Amino acid sequence: MNNTLKQTPTTLWKCGKCGGELQRGSVKASYLGNDFVVEELKCLNCGLVLITEELALGKMFEVEQSLEDK
Ligand SMILES: [Zn+2]
Repeated sequence: MNNTLKQTPTTLWKCGKCGGELQRGSVKASYLGNDFVVEELKCLNCGLVLITEELALGKMFEVEQSLEDK
């Protein structure tokens, strides 16, 4: 039998606050008066949102760019 169907070796994210499980989901964020939705990891236990620096910086940059265009 083929037994290769194992759990994908993904990084298990845990909440740094309570140690709860983090799940991907849409999170509403606000920056410079603009609301936007980002897909981020959110703690199922305490609701803490883990915004990865990379994504946050990228998104913030986009927002700043779009604001400057106006
Ligand atoms: Zn938590």
